[in-house]
Amino acid sequence: MDGAVRENTHQRVKKGGASGYLTIDLTALVRNYDRLAAETAPARVAAVVKADAYGLGANRVAARLYAHGCRHFFVAQFAEALSLRPQLTRDATIFVLNGLQPGNELACADEGIVPVINSLEQLQQWAGAAVNLNRRLPAVLQFDTGMSRLGVPPQERSAVAAMLRTCGMVDIQFVMSHLASADETLSEQNGSQLAELRRIAAEFPEFEVCFANSGGIFLGEAYHGVLARPGIALYGGAPTDGRPNPMEPVVKLDVAVVQTRTVPAGALVGYGGAHIVVAETRLATIAAGYADGLPRSLSDRGAVYCDGIRLPIVGRVSMDSITVDISSLPEGRLHLGGLVEVLGSSQTLEDIARDAGTISYEILTGLGHRYERQYR
Ligand SMILES: *Cc1c(COP(=O)(O)O)cnc(C)c1O
Repeated sequence: MDGAVRENTHQRVKKGGASGYLTIDLTALVRNYDRLAAETAPARVAAVVKADAYGLGANRVAARLYAHGCRHFFVAQFAEALSLRPQLTRDATIFVLNGLQPGNELACADEGIVPVINSLEQLQQWAGAAVNLNRRLPAVLQFDTGMSRLGVPPQERSAVAAMLRTCGMVDIQFVMSHLASADETLSEQNGSQLAELRRIAAEFPEFEVCFANSGGIFLGEAYHGVLARPGIALYGGAPTDGRPNPMEPVVKLDVAVVQTRTVPAGALVGYGGAHIVVAETRLATIAAGYADGLPRSLSDRGAVYCDGIRLPIVGRVSMDSITVDISSLPEGRLHLGGLVEVLGSSQTLEDIARDAGTISYEILTGLGHRYERQYR
């Protein structure tokens, strides 16, 4: 074994005794924010930090973006807003996309958290809380423009408008809607959602509009409104399918080798003996599996990398480990404790998502909790 390589590999093994290292580059995150801000200017850019900032750590991500000037943060659930609230000063607004759950009204008002109102019923709930507290309460009003998921449906629009005219207790900050196919530039759904949003904006001319997610930002100015809501693009994921990714990678994942071996032709690898090697093969077992967010659908499909060389996954992905073929590496290059790259310069989020039959979002949000996290 080459001494320089050994030393280099050992330097890369970090302190905490973990078997995998997730590096989160907060300076790349900030550059992505700037890139999106440049694309949407003069509209402002919020940060979607739901699901623990897509798995990267909502507190760290939000604090860094706040320091960089971001003042609007979206989470999905009220509990997420509650845990983020103490991390940010009151000039930062936290919005809850899933809206108001019955029973949360007082806590929501107390903490200064802004619910996204998705129905007439939620508007009534929030107005009722405002009356009880005898003060106006802020909210965002979401309309369904064709996704049938969240937001005031078309048949409730006039009742919502009537209620806003009569009850002055809810202070609508802006109206919003969400695109279902923003990552597909050619989808006709984008244009029809935009047309529906324009009809809504005409019905509620007193309010400004918040529309674009990551993909929507790159659909053009018509989609920007006054505030964009990117998530995946901040974290380095590609905003648009089938186009070069304009974002910088934020996440790097390296996993340690826990054993290497050479097996003869005919050897069975992994659970179920699902893989039979055809010729003598050098294998390495690495210390991450489906419990660490590497989907079982990568069995006999995906790969990891070392020095830019592709090391195919052989056999099934286990809970805590994966076996890879290292025959194409120089002998001795990988040994116990050495690291292979799962995400990084050789393999993007989109690469691994494609091999797993899923999307970058699911890979990112699934990255497990056993990795040692390092923020840069
Ligand atoms: C998750 C989410 C976003 C962010 O979407 P990305 O595609 O990750 O940019 C924006 N708006 C709403 C309503 C969402 O649910």
